[in-house]
Amino acid sequence: MDEPRTIFHVDMDAFFASVEIRDDPGLLGKPVLVGGVARRGVVAAASYEARKFGCRSAQPMAVALRLCPHAVVLPGRFEAYAEASDRAFEVFDQFSPVVEGLSIDEAFLDMTGTTRLFGAPAVAAEKLRAAVRDATSGLTCSVGISAVKFLAKIASGHRKPDGLTEIPPGAELEFLRPLPIEELWGVGPKTAERLRAHGITTIADLERVGRPALEHWFGSSGVHLHELAHAMDPREVVPSRDRKQISHEDTYAVDVVGEAAIRRKLLSQATRVADRLVAKSVVAKRVQLKIRDTDFRTETRQCTLRPGTDDARVLYKAACDLLQGVEIEGRSFRLTGVGAGDLVPRGVQGAQLDLLPPEPNARGIVEPVRLQGVLSAVRSKFGHKALFPAEAGGEARPDSAGGLSDTREED
Ligand SMILES: [Mg+2]
Repeated sequence: MDEPRTIFHVDMDAFFASVEIRDDPGLLGKPVLVGGVARRGVVAAASYEARKFGCRSAQPMAVALRLCPHAVVLPGRFEAYAEASDRAFEVFDQFSPVVEGLSIDEAFLDMTGTTRLFGAPAVAAEKLRAAVRDATSGLTCSVGISAVKFLAKIASGHRKPDGLTEIPPGAELEFLRPLPIEELWGVGPKTAERLRAHGITTIADLERVGRPALEHWFGSSGVHLHELAHAMDPREVVPSRDRKQISHEDTYAVDVVGEAAIRRKLLSQATRVADRLVAKSVVAKRVQLKIRDTDFRTETRQCTLRPGTDDARVLYKAACDLLQGVEIEGRSFRLTGVGAGDLVPRGVQGAQLDLLPPEPNARGIVEPVRLQGVLSAVRSKFGHKALFPAEAGGEARPDSAGGLSDTREED
């Protein structure tokens, strides 16, 4: 007999602002805004105290400060947020093998079949919330539980902060009906406006209208709306492909201006990432550049590398190529980061890595010698230019005329 699906949506409460308040108890009870203070800066997070004044994330900072002039504005400490996020996701991983990260502070967990391990869904959710609190030194999260994916997400927002909302199987429509249409995933201000023009303001209205009318007005997205209004959502929790990326980013106290300065930061970050790749015996098939300006606008760009690499120079070159797509003129930057994703164990990515004959290792076990490792060893001894694996079957050569242009593709 099939157990019904159990999906959790876990969402940290006012995440950036909560990390700031945790680390500086003097902020407790004060309206806190994390974000850019420069001319076009935006709010990245608003504490619940600030939300009482109408402040919210993605709002222009100037607007937020008009609503709440006495708010404490902080520039953000992204390493602290990444660290707290790692702790929370480690807890998620302990509760479910199927974790789909949606952002730095929220995830879906497929909890189907975990009752014997953690108890009934609501019991398991309280255990998870307590574990997150412990692991993050006091940060709270809210959890929504449902058999239907999008409903779990709506539910987690229902009793924020520090809340738990369970929609038992069979109670989905009852939960949905009174909600305003904006609560549905994919109903933005424009769709909402059009629906209102037809007299539809709640999900109950949407349910009543029926599929033919919705399809007539909105085409295929009308069919989708009809399904959501009837709590039909067959989407599964899909484990994040690239959550376990290795990245290094820094937030700077002094703004970084100009391409040369940015490149210097990227070189040091690529080197740190490469060191961690080597230490973990993995290669990355994807490189990500992240950059944030003083207006708090964040850009991420990524490209694919074939074959994968753990070479700092290849990562650096790829990050610099990605930087070409970023408008640098007239902007100053507060954060840069290099990330390496699509990690695979070194040696499994292609036969070209196994060109050398097997040799017994220290314990007498025969292992294929990994060319990449040999080359790294040679480079670290004689310098990077000592050896390029021209015969190794298309290894990216960072200094070659064509650069990475023929081994990368936009993702
Ligand atoms: Mg959140």
